[in-house]
Parts: sequence; C-alpha cells; structure tokens
Amino acid sequence: MQRDEQIFELIQAEKERQLHGIELIASENFVSPQVMEAAGSVLTNKYAEGYPGKRYYGGCEVVDEVEQIAIDRAKALFGAAYVNVQPHSGSQANTAVYHACLTPGDKILGFDLSHGGHLTHGSPVNFSGKLYNPVFYGVEQETGVLNYDKIQEIATKEQPKLIIAGASAYSRDIDFKRFRVIADSVGAILMADISHPAGMIAKGILNDPLPHCHIVTTTTHKTLRGPRGGMIMMGQDFENPFGIKLKNGNLRKMSSLLDSAVFPGNQGGPLEHIIAAKAIAFGEALTDDFLNYQLQVKHNASTMADALVAKGYNIISAGTDNHCMLIDLRNKNLSGKDAEQALVKADITVNKNMVPFDDKSPFVTSGIRLGVAAVTTRGLKEADMGAIVDLVDEVITNFEDDTVLAAVKEKVNAMMKDLPLFQ
Ligand code: PLP
Repeated sequence: MQRDEQIFELIQAEKERQLHGIELIASENFVSPQVMEAAGSVLTNKYAEGYPGKRYYGGCEVVDEVEQIAIDRAKALFGAAYVNVQPHSGSQANTAVYHACLTPGDKILGFDLSHGGHLTHGSPVNFSGKLYNPVFYGVEQETGVLNYDKIQEIATKEQPKLIIAGASAYSRDIDFKRFRVIADSVGAILMADISHPAGMIAKGILNDPLPHCHIVTTTTHKTLRGPRGGMIMMGQDFENPFGIKLKNGNLRKMSSLLDSAVFPGNQGGPLEHIIAAKAIAFGEALTDDFLNYQLQVKHNASTMADALVAKGYNIISAGTDNHCMLIDLRNKNLSGKDAEQALVKADITVNKNMVPFDDKSPFVTSGIRLGVAAVTTRGLKEADMGAIVDLVDEVITNFEDDTVLAAVKEKVNAMMKDLPLFQ
C-alpha cells in the first residue's frame, strides 16, 4: 500500500514544531522513545474487552500479561491497593467514578473551573455539570489559595454526595487530609484528581492523596510522563456505601463498581498498546532518575515563578509548589488570548487561562498558565529558566510588534536547536 505522505509530512512538521519551540503548556510532556514505541505497536490490533483473566475475546494471553504488569507497577508506584489502567483519558476516568458513585441529579462539590478546576469537576458545559448538580469552591481573592474553612462551610450547607479535590491550574499543594475531614463531616465520597501533579506525588514531593481519599484519578501524560490516558486508584478497597449487593447478599466492593463503571459502563475495548506504554512509563517512574526529574521540575518551576515575580508578573498565590503557575496579565494590559497568540509567533507555546475572578470570557481570558514538565524533560535546568522568562517577557511587552516576535523566535530556536525531545 502507498505510504500516506500527506499525513507523515504533517507528523514530521509537528515533530519539528516540538523540537524547535519552548513548550510551556502545563499539561504536556515528552515521552521516552520506548513509551512511544509501545504506543505505536501491534497491540493496537487487539480487542480485549474485560479484564486480565476475564476477557470477552480469545487470544488475550499476551495483553493480559501486559495489563497486569501495568496494574502492578502503578500499585507499586503510588502505594495503591486497587488500580484500573483502562480509562482512555482523564475525563473518562472521572466519568467512570461518577457512574460508580452517583445517580443523575446528585450534588457534587468541585473546584471552580475559572479558579483552577477542570471541566469534568462540574462545569455547566461538560457532562459533569449537565448530569449532576454541581456546586463549587474556589480560591481567596486576596491570596489565590484555597481556604479550607470556607470549603467546610460550603460542604456543610450543600451536603454534596461527592467532593472533588484537584485542579488543572492550581500551583499550591493540596491538603487531602483536611479534605477528608470535610468529606466525612457530610458523609461524602472524596475523590482526588491528581492529573497534573501525579508524577510529583508518586515521588513523594507533594502531599499523597492515597491514604486520605476514597478514590484517586489521574491522567498518565502530564508530569507522570506516560502516553495520553487515564487511571483510577484506591489506597484501600472498601464496601460500597450505596447498598449495592452481590447475588450472595454481600455488599459489592468499590473496586468492583469502578471496574464495571469503566467497562462495560463507559468504554468498550481497552487500548492495550497505550496500556503497554503506561506500563513502561510506570517502570520509568519507579526509578531514581524519575525522582531526580521531578526534583528538577520543582526547582525549575519555583525558579521560573521567582523570575516572573521579579519582572512584575502577578502569579496567582505568588508562587508555586508544583510544576505550574497561573499568571494574571491584567497589570500588563493584554489578554490571555493576545499573549498566547504572540508567544506562538515566537515558538513559545502556552495556553490562555481564566484567572480567579476573571472579567473576560473563556475565549479571551485574563491569564496564561505555564508549566515546566516538558522543558525539564528536554534537559533545561534552573539556569535556563531566567532566560525563558526574559524571552516570554520580551514577547508580552512587545506583543503587537512582529519584528520583535520574529527576533525572539530566532533566539528560541537557537536555544532549543540541539536538545532532543527526551533526555
Ligand atoms: N482532570 C484534570 C485535573 C485535568 O487537568 C485534565 C486535563 O487537562 C483532565 C482531568 C482530563 O484529562 P483528558 O484531557 O485526558 O481527558
């Protein structure tokens, strides 16, 4: 068959874009060659509805082994008693948890999207806000940090059935222990969504949700540096509190409800090529190299935040504990959209982002979100962060001047020229 040059040329163009630019999108990373190889392997040909040892298709002996290794490595990495590696994405992991724990109309308490939460935490444009009854907590206007007393007050007033702790754009460590006290006081299930900081949590650099939260979801492709995908975990299994019984009259375990919610509840065949890539990424994450990587991510992020603050940028919460930071650009007189577009012209990729108490629409926004997981994978260190901030600042200060943007682009390309995607 003829090679599809049209698509392969585009893939090559995207590779060049990734190689030559500075990638500051907080949810992105670069996977290792072996993760990439597994993701593009013959395992994509295999149907395997069900779970290892309990499939609805023949010929699953090999993928059974692959999936079991992925589960075992994830358990070892996070200290989890239960893991489901089948969710195709973070959103599908969250969907499955809601299916397992809620009925339509139930109240959920999540982090407001415009304050740093995720669409799937109850946004009205997402299934989570359409199917369920969402209420929100947010950050304090003065400090940009969560106020746990206020979250307790909201929970007491609203009596949610499920509370979601976790965010897409919150740069401070989360107190999962306190969240559990809040959840217990109203009899709610507590779910942590650690999609962003999962890699740092795995290596003990941030608070561990597993001992405190009933259920933990994550993506596998952000700081965890695996293929695009999702995962559900529990620190310990428990009998479901909804009275759902087995034929023998015993209560079904939560693990059984979650497995059923993923398949057949919410997905069909698992992506075994991606599960193989997840297994490899978890194996990489179990090494000391990965600990050093996460420590470097933390150092790079705090160095970048300090350099931005020194240049008069308003970082929500005035700094970062993790890999990311949210900048309110209102004192710089341009929107998040303007900044994103100007930075792209200089081969620096970020995303526009709502900031807490934003007065602009989600299509315009007052902020941008930056993260350092990807540039750290490419080998950049603390000393490079100041140079990146200088380039970002030059773009933002001259966002309407295409000559300056072209000159910055040359500097960006020179900086990234010899760095492979994965070091
Ligand atoms: N949860 C959080 C906190 C996220 O930040 C994201 C992605 O950005 C998701 C869930 C959804 O992940 P996916 O894009 O894989 O559906």
